[in-house]
Amino acid sequence: WSKETVALVTGANKGIGFAIVKQLAKEGLTAILTSRDIQNGQKACDMLREEGLNVLFHQLDVTDLDSIIRVADWVKTQFGGIDILINNAGVNFRTTPLSLDGMEVAHSTLETNYYGVKRVTEAMLSLFRLSTQGNRIVNVSSMMGQLSVFQDETWKTQLSSVDTLTEELIESFLQNCLVKIAKNLNTKVPGLEVFKAELHYPKGLIYYGLSKAALNAYSRMLARDLSKRSADQMFYVSCMCPGLTSTDMTGNVGHTPEEGADTAVWLALLPASECSTGNFFIKRQERSFE
Ligand code: NDP
Repeated sequence: WSKETVALVTGANKGIGFAIVKQLAKEGLTAILTSRDIQNGQKACDMLREEGLNVLFHQLDVTDLDSIIRVADWVKTQFGGIDILINNAGVNFRTTPLSLDGMEVAHSTLETNYYGVKRVTEAMLSLFRLSTQGNRIVNVSSMMGQLSVFQDETWKTQLSSVDTLTEELIESFLQNCLVKIAKNLNTKVPGLEVFKAELHYPKGLIYYGLSKAALNAYSRMLARDLSKRSADQMFYVSCMCPGLTSTDMTGNVGHTPEEGADTAVWLALLPASECSTGNFFIKRQERSFE
């Protein structure tokens, strides 16, 4: 890895994304810090540049296709392509506007955490450069998307059958769960028909769990498809959970953002000989998606 290696990180003006950019830049890479808010992103970028780190800023809202196209065009003009993409941007009930009602929180969470990753990845795919190290896509996911939290065995089987996974199937799963959740949204245990009863997720986290389960399934499908693409260009697609990390998303409870960033950076920089694709990691250890 060198200054010529270009890594783009979404949602990097604060929290885990900011720590990921900092660690990548400290390793000597060119790190692109993206943020949906220009002022916040520029300020975060300036802080890292003042430390002498090679960080550049570009606006990117993962829910806005025009914004995604703009950053992809800029990356192409500026660098000719990228080597590493870290899909970190995410929201939960704490970081979506308080004015939103239940189904609006669902929409915002899925749009950012699942559809946002899909849109950004699709836009960036053609920009990945040939590299002896292999290209890296790291999706920042969560244990809350592991399949063991769900009730429906048929969906669990379908989502873990990597050979037959499709986007249509993943999105039917989301729609099916949303319809079930909407039915008992205002009861004491919303999400009861979707998640295991003993979990008692707070209302806001049921959509978060759904979004991350969909993200995990998408990552496995993407890893499968990219591995068939070309013998010359290797892609290593990984999912990881940063663990409970002290950021706005958790109300500042948990370990430091630097610790939360560690596994994502490790996956991004691991020597190709030690890489795998389509797997889930916590604390640098491979874990089951189930
Ligand atoms: P933060 O809330 O601190 O940071 C989230 C980042 O995502 C912010 O930069 C935010 O921007 C950005 N973001 C939100 N929506 C969009 C959007 N539409 N387009 C672009 N950027 C957006 O949370 P964390 O750092 O904790 O979260 C980072 C990732 O880690 C998330 O994917 C989260 O799900 C995951 N995670 C976190 C855990 C934790 O304990 N903290 C545990 C498990 C997973 P803005 O400042 O503008 O809101």
